[in-house]
Order: sequence, then C-alpha cells, then structure tokens
Amino acid sequence: MIFNSIRWRLQAWHGVILATVLTGFGVAAYQVARDNQLRSIDQDLGQQLEGLFRPRPPAGDPGDPPEARPPRGERGRPFPFESPEFEDHLRQAVSEYGSAGGPYLALWKVNQGLLARSPGAPQDMPPPSEALAQAPQAAGPGQPGFRPGPRGPMLARTRGPLREIAVPLPRGFVVVAGRSIADDQAAMQRLALWLLAAGLGVFLLGLAGGGWVAAHAIRPIDAISATAQRISAGDLSQRINVADTESELGRLAAVLNNTFARLESSFTQQARFTADASHELRTPVAVILTQTQTCLARERDSAEYKETLEACQRAAQRMRRLTESLLELARLDAGEEPMRRDRFDLGRVARESAELIRPLAAQRNVTLETDLALADCAGDAEHVGQVVTNLLSNAIHYNRDSGTVHVVVRIEGDHGVLRISDAGSGIAVEDQPHIFERFYRADKSRARAEGRTGLGLAICKAIVDAHGGSIGVESQPGSGSTFTVRLPLAHH
Ligand code: ADP
Repeated sequence: MIFNSIRWRLQAWHGVILATVLTGFGVAAYQVARDNQLRSIDQDLGQQLEGLFRPRPPAGDPGDPPEARPPRGERGRPFPFESPEFEDHLRQAVSEYGSAGGPYLALWKVNQGLLARSPGAPQDMPPPSEALAQAPQAAGPGQPGFRPGPRGPMLARTRGPLREIAVPLPRGFVVVAGRSIADDQAAMQRLALWLLAAGLGVFLLGLAGGGWVAAHAIRPIDAISATAQRISAGDLSQRINVADTESELGRLAAVLNNTFARLESSFTQQARFTADASHELRTPVAVILTQTQTCLARERDSAEYKETLEACQRAAQRMRRLTESLLELARLDAGEEPMRRDRFDLGRVARESAELIRPLAAQRNVTLETDLALADCAGDAEHVGQVVTNLLSNAIHYNRDSGTVHVVVRIEGDHGVLRISDAGSGIAVEDQPHIFERFYRADKSRARAEGRTGLGLAICKAIVDAHGGSIGVESQPGSGSTFTVRLPLAHH
C-alpha cells in the first residue's frame, strides 16, 4: 500500500501539523482583529454617550456677546444627576440625537421601560435587562467609577447588524447607544476570506515543499533497497552508491556496504573452502581407487597385495586426519567446541607439549630448548596444548637438519606470551598474511606430498580467537620463523 510508505506518512504528518498551525494562527488572527474592531466601535459609542452628560450651552447665537455664554469652567463639567432636571435633560438629549440611519440613542428606566429614543433608533429594541438590573447601584456621571466606554460600567451586545452599548446610571436610568456595523462585518468577512485564501496558499506551498524534502530524504533508501534487492538476487558484488557519507542514511549505507563486503568475502571463502576440501579429499580417494584397480587387474602375490593395502591405509589415514581437522574447524566456527574458562599455567602446558613432541624432534635431529615462566592464563588448557603441539610440529617439520626450536613463555602486560622460533627456511613475505587461512600452504606440492593438511594453523587461529587472544608470525626467509601466541591472563 502506498500509504504505508515512510514518504507518505511523513507527508501526512507534515500536512496535519501544517494545517493545525495555520488554522490556529488564522483563527487567532481573526479573533484579535474582530476584538479590536468591536472595542473601537464600543469606544466610539462610549464617546457619543459622554457628550450627553455635559450641559449644553444655552440656546443663542454664536455671535452673542461672551458674557451670554456659560462660563468657561462650567462647560466641561458633568451634569449633576441628582438635580430634578436630569431626566428632562436626558430625554431631550436622547430624542434630539443624530438622524435616521446614523448612530442612535435610547433611554430606559427601571419599571418604566423605554422613555425616549433618537430618530435613528430601531423600533424593536429589547430592554437592556442586565444594565437595568445594575442601574440602581450604578455610579453617576462625575462620580468615581463612572466612565461610559469600553472600560466603564458598560454592557455591550451585537444584534444582527447592530452594535449597542448600555450604560447603567443611578436612579434606575439606562442609556443605550448603538449603530449599524454592517460595513464592519463585511470588512471582517473579507478579512476571513483573505486569511482563508492565504492559509490555503501557504498550506499548499508547504505541502509541496515538504513533499519535495521528503522525496529527497527518502531517495537514498530507494537506492539502498534496490541494491539490497540485486544482492539478494545473487549479485554479491553490488554496493550502494553513497554520495553523502555524512548524513544518517549515508552512514547507514556505508555500514551496509561494509556488511555486504564481509558477506561477499565470507561467501567466497566458503565456496573456496568447499572446493579446497573436496580437492583434498579427492586425492586420497583417487589413490585408493587406482591402487585397487591396478591390483585387481590380475592375480598378485601376497607381497603385492600387502603393498597395495598399505598404500590404501595411508590414504585412508590421510582422509581421517583431514576429516577430523575439518570437523574440528566446523565445530570451532559454529562455537560448538566447548571451550573451558579455567586458570592454567601456559608455561606448564608448553612444557607438556614439548615433552610430547620430543620424540618427533629427536627423529628429525632437531633440538628443543625451553625457557618457560609461570603465566596463569584463562582458558582451555587442552585446546591451548593442541595449539602449542601444532606450532611445535610445524617448527620441527619446517626446520633445517640439526636445527633448534626455542620455546619461550613470558608475561607481557596482561597477556601470557608464547614464542616458538625455528631455524628453518622461513616464510616468504607474500605468504605470511595467508598462512592462517584454511588449506593455504606456502609450498603447495611439497606440503601436500608430505601429507600435510594445510589446516593446522587455521585451527590454531580459531582456538586462539575463541580465547580472545591473538596469533602472529614474524619470519625472515632463510633464517627461520617465530610464531607468537598471546592469551589473556587470568584475573587475580
Ligand atoms: P600444513 O599442514 O601445511 O603445515 P599449516 O596450517 O600448519 O598447514 O601451515 C600452513 C603453511 O604455513 C604451511 O604449508 C607452511 O608453508 C607454512 N608454515 C607453517 N609453519 C611454518 C614454519 N614453522 N616454518 C615455515 N613455514 C611454515
């Protein structure tokens, strides 16, 4: 399913977040603009009301002499609401206010209903009940707390296209000021439409941009899966083309490439190992077949039969050595060879192995010299003994006549170190990196003819690796080789 893909999921999340943010922003912007607009309308209406509470200059021509006008100080003074003329003043001011179509005023009183309204006021005005309820306790003009306007004791309401504010006054009066806000509402509608269009535009743009970014970010994954598919189809030489090695996906690709390389090399090794193993086994089988066929071709005397049987026995013994070594390697590879974790003295193990192999050395006229310190290592003494015996047997086998083999055990740092040096022909520099590989022999024909399996060092390495140690060789062709085994010391 396309919607299961990471790209589409990213896109969907991106869309949801973008839509939420834009909607929140749009609604908040609209709300703020609407509140501001209403506040300014209310302020406007409040100012209309304030005019009511100033005594008007007495009727007369503006051309009257100055002494006929009210004194300057009195002009702005609020009208005294306690005076009996207060109601008359309000009634008159309200009914004379404005004209039809413009802002309007209305005067209400508790228990008496509508007292007066200006010409522009609508017929169907419902009573400002909340303001009427507050009116008896209200502050009057000129008293502290009275301020007709958005911050004063004012109750605002919107009725269809009309906005009204109601100001409670003492003695049960309520003045209502209102005006049509149809134009303002149309402007708000335009703002809402504009916000919607802009929001939609930003949303689509953001979606397209997000889609591009997601597609761009996901592209390396497509390349990785395409390569992995080709590899799983059998082409192990395929690698992911990593251009940007610094990004997370680039690093993943590098790790995968590394894994593919290791897979390829392990497959090649496996294939070569199988080929080598069958090749090694084919030789003794061929020997047995040829020997028996030749022997059976005609009647033989018992000496000839004996000779044939002996040749077959040698071939079978070789096959047994080979299969045993192969089996051991396979078990070591699979981690099936139980490896103990005991404390043992590497020096003692080396001494026992040397004693075991001394007859072989004597046979070859090779002298064994030992210098063995006590080195308590952690591991499997029996398997380590096998390593020492293998190395000693090689050192004797590849030694020169009447040569010497030195066996040294020391403690170096937190490792027990075993060194076995011989005075043989040494190992060519180009062979040194390979001698621990399976079936690798520096001198192929000679070693095979001598019945060597080519697995001894591979087994040594597998055992040492299983101990968390290391094995290496230093060799000067012509003047012998030194094999060094390092094993971790047992903790005290
Ligand atoms: P092999 O059964 O052939 O001895 P190994 O795995 O023990 O197999 O050794 C691999 C190859 O390493 C040998 O064929 C030989 O060429 C080389 N080699 C091992 N030990 C020595 C040594 N002490 N001196 C010279 N060459 C050696």
